[in-house]
Amino acid sequence: MSKALPKRSENYSEWYNELVKRADLAENSAVRGCMVIKPYGYSIWEKMQRALDDMFKETGHTNAYFPLFIPKSYLSKEASHVEGFAKECAVVTHYRLKNDPNGKGVIVDPDARLEEELIVRPTSETVIWSTYKNWIQSYRDLPLLINQWANVVRWEMRTRLFLRTAEFLWQEGHTAHSTATEAVAEARQMLDVYTTFAEEWMALPVLRGVKTANERFAGAVDTYCIEALMQDGKALQAGTSHFLGQNFAAAFDVKFQDKDGKLEYVWGTSWGVSTRLMGALIMAHSDDNGLVLPPKLAPIQVVIVPIYKNEEQLDAISDKAAEIMKELKKRGISVKYDNNDAYKPGYKFAEYELKGVPVRLAMGARDLENNTVEVARRDTKTKETVSLEGITEYISDLLDNIQEAVYNKALAFREENTVKVDTMEEFTKILDDRGGFILAHWDGTSETEEKIKEETKATIRCIPLNQEAEDGVCIYSGKPSKGRVVFARAY
Ligand code: AMP
Repeated sequence: MSKALPKRSENYSEWYNELVKRADLAENSAVRGCMVIKPYGYSIWEKMQRALDDMFKETGHTNAYFPLFIPKSYLSKEASHVEGFAKECAVVTHYRLKNDPNGKGVIVDPDARLEEELIVRPTSETVIWSTYKNWIQSYRDLPLLINQWANVVRWEMRTRLFLRTAEFLWQEGHTAHSTATEAVAEARQMLDVYTTFAEEWMALPVLRGVKTANERFAGAVDTYCIEALMQDGKALQAGTSHFLGQNFAAAFDVKFQDKDGKLEYVWGTSWGVSTRLMGALIMAHSDDNGLVLPPKLAPIQVVIVPIYKNEEQLDAISDKAAEIMKELKKRGISVKYDNNDAYKPGYKFAEYELKGVPVRLAMGARDLENNTVEVARRDTKTKETVSLEGITEYISDLLDNIQEAVYNKALAFREENTVKVDTMEEFTKILDDRGGFILAHWDGTSETEEKIKEETKATIRCIPLNQEAEDGVCIYSGKPSKGRVVFARAY
């Protein structure tokens, strides 16, 4: 049997890396910062995609696809956008290789230099708005509600599997509207969609808010976000939705004629979640024995392991298992029967625990006699013997219970680790002791935010959307403040 995982309490980051590899989710590749997503990991991502895609379509969006490469001149058209992304761009300069005249393999052909360099998209606003210019003329063409599933590249210096990679998979929505009000409503609606997805599918409670100017998307007027708390007390930005104002419309000259015949710039939004959500899912719920997956995103929801001494027993158990599986599948529950003879039940139990399969059924000869089965749930690691009478109903309810229990556990953890703080001393102490979300007063300046970050490594995760009005003084500068913002050390 493979050796135990490192413990979260001893080395959280090593626990995470090892878990990602051992649970067969992903591994590092030959290219720094780029990962291989393995089939088991990818099947979780596919479930995420499907649920999100359904929600995007329910809210009126359709999918399209835009090119991987962006002409360098496009990126420069929106000043703050290029400034924000310039430091992490991969650039294509040549289009051909040739044999090395010195006989050492191949070299870049210096004669094959591109006239204009191409940027591998770090995000697609520029290429999409340059296209929208041709698609939008009148108010009748609006709103334009488009999403793209794609890969993007940001040359990140410090990478970590799923959470921050140089190439990542994501979806990016890009919408165009005739009024600012409508565009803001769209950005807020997509934040709601992300919140619902995080909470109902990922069982991950999130805080919702607006980013400060320092943390805002390059080129946005406002960035809305959802923020989640990981088990080590660090925050993770789980999704963002931007109100772009008329910035990209102005940069790409996208105008529409309104009902009165007047020409006006279009209002825009963009919004995205990435494979980082996989990291959030793993870090938020898993334990020292492996993954804990919320049933709605588990590729295998139920596994049945036969326990037998001879071929005859195995055959009888297999027949019973087939009946159970048929009924579960009818309900849309994904179930696997593991009769692989090469491994002992104990090994299989540990393996499915590592992989986070929410429910395990073990069935032996005695169970057959008694018409029972042993049901073990992954999240609480509790077991009970249950009658096969009504087992489908029982398992279906159990999966719902697990989904809820995983959410409630994460919510309780977040609540325990969210505190109001009024002095810098207490602020640093809490950060060093246990982290978590800290609600504190801030004077509203970027300068103070920077200073706090320099001194404590904590950033403002968001100004909560439901911020309570409360007079106070900034924990750093002592200047007046009208409400608390959320601080944390973050991934
Ligand atoms: P942004 O376009 O910067 O607003 O990012 C959109 C989404 O992608 C956010 O949910 C980010 O958390 C996520 N994201 C940003 N950079 C990375 C990265 N290097 N790896 C994985 N996800 C990322």
